[in-house]
Amino acid sequence: MAAYMLTQAGANVLLLEAGGPWDNTKDSAMLKMAYQSPRRGASTPDRPFGEFDACVGGWELQGEPFTKAEGTDFMWWRARMVGGRTNHWGRISLRYGAYDFKPRSRDGLGFDWPIGYEDLAPYYDKVELLIGVYGSNEHLENTPDSSPGCLLPPPKPLVSDLLVAQRAKRLGIAVIPCHRAVLTQPLDFGSSPARLHPGNVTAQKLLAEDMRARAACLWATPCGRGCSIRANYQSTTVHLPPALASSNLDVTTDAMVYEVTLGRDGRANGVSFFDRTTGRPQHATARVVILAASACESVRILLNSRSAQFPNGLANSSGRLGRYLMDTVGSSVSGQIPLLESLPPLNEDAADGDQMYVPWWLYRDQHAGKLGFARGYHIEFGGGKRMPGFGTGAGIQWLTGGSYGVKFKQDVRRYYGSFVSFAGRGEMIPNDQSYCEIDPKVKDKWGIPVLRFHWRWSEHELRQAAHMQRTFAAIIDSMDGRTSGPALSDGAEAIAPGGSIIHEVGGAIMGSDPRTSVTNQWCQTWDVQNLFVTDGAVFASNADKNPTLTIMALAWRAADHILERMRRKEL
Ligand SMILES: Cc1cc2nc3c(=O)[nH]c(=O)nc-3n(C[C@H](O)[C@H](O)[C@H](O)COP(=O)(O)OP(=O)(O)OC[C@H]3O[C@@H](n4cnc5c(N)ncnc54)[C@H](O)[C@@H]3O)c2cc1C
Ligand code: SF4
Repeated sequence: MAAYMLTQAGANVLLLEAGGPWDNTKDSAMLKMAYQSPRRGASTPDRPFGEFDACVGGWELQGEPFTKAEGTDFMWWRARMVGGRTNHWGRISLRYGAYDFKPRSRDGLGFDWPIGYEDLAPYYDKVELLIGVYGSNEHLENTPDSSPGCLLPPPKPLVSDLLVAQRAKRLGIAVIPCHRAVLTQPLDFGSSPARLHPGNVTAQKLLAEDMRARAACLWATPCGRGCSIRANYQSTTVHLPPALASSNLDVTTDAMVYEVTLGRDGRANGVSFFDRTTGRPQHATARVVILAASACESVRILLNSRSAQFPNGLANSSGRLGRYLMDTVGSSVSGQIPLLESLPPLNEDAADGDQMYVPWWLYRDQHAGKLGFARGYHIEFGGGKRMPGFGTGAGIQWLTGGSYGVKFKQDVRRYYGSFVSFAGRGEMIPNDQSYCEIDPKVKDKWGIPVLRFHWRWSEHELRQAAHMQRTFAAIIDSMDGRTSGPALSDGAEAIAPGGSIIHEVGGAIMGSDPRTSVTNQWCQTWDVQNLFVTDGAVFASNADKNPTLTIMALAWRAADHILERMRRKEL
């Protein structure tokens, strides 16, 4: 995002990327059929979500370990390719609301951000216009509306979506169109470029051409494999093409950054990296350094950038670097709905992701202290008869008793499309026990010290996870369905491990006081004025809203600030 913005404004940018390149026209496997997989879709070491998945990376990277303190259960998913995890993310793009920026003022827990919703709202508008997000404005509490013209129309709901909506309503739960970064129609290349880059005719022209080249979704292929027609947002299909077309961007792949270097004047003067192809250390100089290597990796680079001035890591005069790591609270329940059995075959491929979702609906009860936990969650759910994939028909023994042969085929047809699954995505409150630091002993294959994680959920998250279980079971029950197992009443059993929802943020949180935060409201480190962090590390809270839209809005705002300061010769 930052590279896109800066290059459009005429700045020269060098983007250093630890992984390899990705070309949507050649590398996307979205049009491959299941039977074309030599491994029947099984995962490979660098593609744990299946060999057709777009994102190279994983929970474990060969030669790049991380460690966990005793008693810590934490997972860290790392990408190693241009565009990172945006090549296969779920593309759910929710805005933070006004409450989400000021949580401490509402309930006394966690931290307030140094900015409010009104500061980021114009940037949410811009990001939505640029990347293309479907959804609707519903005027709900703490679920912000977008400015007119920013959202694309949502896709039609599936039969199962309509049934969930009808039955959840009886429980007082509103189901509304989801917001996802997928083009339901071509982008408005006639007027959006002028809204996004006012006064910059060159950028407008480049963007108009690029927007024209992005096709609308054809509703039939798995988005996680990457989109060859550029109908969904990936950094590789949206940010990089116009940035490269500006001729202001150089991309160096296989460049594993390990340190930000400091000049005698106390300013960052560049970064050191290993060329992964030769194993040799290299250095690149820069007037401004921006870290966006994913929250924990940016923190690792800073912690490893030690000097006489910063013996505990660069930009760490507050001692808060690595502190307040947060993930999303996750818990899920699925069920089988007899009403959806044996429906006539119909094409329900639809958007490969949520058409609809449930925003948090219990703000008042929670604020009144009636729930026993302080923050909310939204519900993502799925169902329908999508393209049969690997494993379709497996795992239905609990319904069939274990049928075989002709009876099994009949059972698969009967039950196919009759399942719904609910996943809660909830807010975690930052705490002192969840952080990362440099492991004093372990290094990766280049000799770079690795991260050691510490993790602890509080009672708020555990109770929230148990609430999710009760809610999902109640919705399935209201649909006259049955869950595959009992709802878990123990939050510690119901909650997914830290890091496993892959929404990790924090570690270099922004604030208004240099003694208690790492960056200011512009993602600029307090200690080094030409050093910025534009990924999730700067999040001061992790609202239930998935983080990536906010990461992009913050990065755009930071880039605007950098440009302004560069024009004034202050950077
Ligand atoms: C399966 C999945 C589904 C998701 N669904 C959603 C969703 O629906 N909505 C949502 O908001 N979020 C979702 N996320 C999270 C989302 O992907 C991340 O929030 C987002 O990608 C973060 O962007 P980032 O640039 O900070 O990190 P990344 O996307 O991880 O990019 C970091 C980049 O830095 C590179 N890099 C790392 N270390 C170094 C180094 N030392 N030197 C040089 N380069 C380096 C990496 O190769 C990568 O290109 C999902 C994630 C996954 C995995
Ligand atoms: S469903 Fe649409 S957005 Fe997703 S990969 Fe297919 S064409 Fe692209």
